[in-house]
Order: sequence, then structure tokens, then C-alpha cells
Amino acid sequence: MNTEALLPGLNHTVRGSECAPEITEDYRETLNKLVLTHQNGVTHFLGGPLDLDDDKKVWLSPVGVDDGETYSYFQLIYVNTDPLELQDDPASVPASLLEVDEAGYKLTPHDHPGYTQLMNQFSGKMKQVLVRHCNSGMAYYPRAITPTLDKMTIDAHLDRVVSVLGIREPEVSITLSKPSDAEEIDLSANVLRATHARKYAFRGAEVHSYGLVLDDDPWKYYEVFTPHPVEDMPKEDVLLRVDSGCDIGQIFDDRGCDCREQLHTALSEIQDIGTGAVIHIPAQDGRGFGAATKMETEGMKRGIEVATNLGNAVPYDTITAAQVLLGDEFDIRTYSGAGRILSMLGIRSVFLQTDNRLKAEGLSEGGISVTRKPTNTTGVRGAENHIAAKHRHNDIYYGDED
Ligand SMILES: [Zn+2]
Repeated sequence: MNTEALLPGLNHTVRGSECAPEITEDYRETLNKLVLTHQNGVTHFLGGPLDLDDDKKVWLSPVGVDDGETYSYFQLIYVNTDPLELQDDPASVPASLLEVDEAGYKLTPHDHPGYTQLMNQFSGKMKQVLVRHCNSGMAYYPRAITPTLDKMTIDAHLDRVVSVLGIREPEVSITLSKPSDAEEIDLSANVLRATHARKYAFRGAEVHSYGLVLDDDPWKYYEVFTPHPVEDMPKEDVLLRVDSGCDIGQIFDDRGCDCREQLHTALSEIQDIGTGAVIHIPAQDGRGFGAATKMETEGMKRGIEVATNLGNAVPYDTITAAQVLLGDEFDIRTYSGAGRILSMLGIRSVFLQTDNRLKAEGLSEGGISVTRKPTNTTGVRGAENHIAAKHRHNDIYYGDED
């Protein structure tokens, strides 16, 4: 891997983020309400349910680890149980480690050899807990994200999670590995400095994937997908999607949102015309407010209000749930990092595939000429209500993300 920075602003190594955006006292108060236990630097959030096929019951709880110097984010994925049920005896069910090649899996889930494996884990009646270390996605607790922790630190944090939460030591590792045709790209020829570069097959054609770190950016970790080497990108009229990550939709196949459809629709169109880019921002899960809050809204969408205890029997839609928790300013995403990546690539004008005017404005402020292009996703997997809710709240909210 080429370690020379050929362009300024991209940094290969990252410590815990000191540049997370300011969050309000109200936001902090909301987060505190969502904490299930907090002990010895391990914060276990209650989380919420995934919306999968009817015979699958899966609950996702975020866990933050803060050892004073480094920060980690784990997901505990409860299958056929939930953290409240297991609170008295968390070691009563087996735990396994779950490793996901995140970018590859988001691109090619149904062709991915790990997809069947993951869905098999979710099927059946056996109770179990899957433990996953994540590079990003829990942007606001305990701080931001730490994409480049070494394995020893991650293992130490995992040990701490196991001992503090009292879950069983994971004995089995489930690795949703890279698809067989993923290959590392030689970075020495690239104009961008990246943490990794790979090639994947998406719908029968090549996708180049570049992991980038912006050290002084709140979202830090970016993934750029292109149908050709990134240095071959044209400078004008580039078809672009700026894609906020969504683990539950894009990895775990939650059917309540259209995030995977949006990503795949954009990539398909880019492949069809032969050029363009997706700038994917994993840490913007849940409109940037992070996994702990996101999963609570997922519960509220299904009429479950464990943390807020509002006693409202009517399920909230996705926007109202976020408003109830965080107020009208719940979408805290920013797009200047995406604008910087475009500038580094020398791109001056884009056709931006989005329904979100804030994304267009964010890039424009960075000096990029932006023409908006609607996404036209339809909710093929059952996300029609989600899309309808976003349109219904168009007066206050211009988002196109879960
Ligand atoms: Zn989503």
C-alpha cells in the first residue's frame, strides 16, 4: 500500500475523534434515557428490534466502550430474545462473534456467500447473541468513531464487554467474508490515499471500493464506490450519490427502510452509464444521530416505547419518532466531507441523486455545482410506509434516509 499522501487532507491513521459536532444538552439527555447499563467504561444501550420476515425475531443493542484513550462500538444482536429478557441471566444463551466485510456486504448482499449464513443465524427458534465490532455508526457515543484500532485493543474492549455485561465468551466466529471475486487494488497508482481499496462484482460488473479517512471530519470514515479506477473519473457532470449508511437496512436486511434500495439503485444507474460515484458515509446511520437513538425509533415505529415510556399505543412513523426523541433538529448530518472528497478528485459539477435538498446545499457550499436528481425508490421490500412518511413530512424534513 502506498503510504505517501498524494493529496492533502486525507490521513491514514486516526485516533478517537476529537471533532465530533457539538450536541445539545437535550440530545445528551435523550441518550442517557436510552442507556440500559453503564459500568466500567461499557455503556449498553437498550436498542430496538429489526423488522425482518415474520418468523425472525432479532433485536440490536449498541454497546460503547471507552477505556479513557480509545473508543469502540459494538453491536449485540439478540436472536429470539432481547436484552431485557436476558438481564438476569445474560450468560444463559450462547454468544458468537460476527464479522462482516461491511462494504462488500452492503454492495452485494444477495450474491454474498455470507447472506444465507446470516439469515440462517436469524432463523430457527434458538436464542443466541451475536457480537459485532463496528468501525463506525455510533457517531455520538461515547464520542465519535475509531476506524483504525489495532486488533489487540479491539480484543481488549471485547473482553471488557463480555465481563461487564456477563454474556458468554464467544466461542464461535461467524465471518461474512469478502465475496470470492473481491480483490485488493494496488493503491500505488491511485490519486487518493485510502485505508483500503478493493474490487467487487455488483450485478455482474466491477465496482471499485476505496475506504477513506478524513481525520478532522465529524463522520471521519468514507467509502467511495466507482465503476472504474477513481483516477479515471471525469471532472464535470458526474452522476453522484451521497449515501448515509444504514446497518439494519443495508447489512441485516431490515425491510422497514429503503436504504439498500437507494444504494443499489444509484450504483445500477452509475454502472449503466459507465461512470459516476457513490460516496458512502457509514457513520451517518440514523440521520447522523447514531445507532442508540436509531434503534429506539425503530421500536417506536412498531409501537414499542421502552425508553421513552410515552404510553402511546399508536406506532409513530419514522419522522415523528425522531422528533419525539430529539426535537425538530434531529437530522444532524453534514456533507462538507463529501464535498472535500469531490474537490480532491477534481470534480467540479455533479448530478446528485437525492430527494434531500440539504445534501445538495452542503455540496454547493463547498463550491461544487449541483443539479438534483430524484432517487425514485419505491420501497420494493416493504418500505412503502417509510417512504410515504418521509414525503408526508416534507414541510419540515427533506431527508431521504432512514
Ligand atoms: Zn435504513
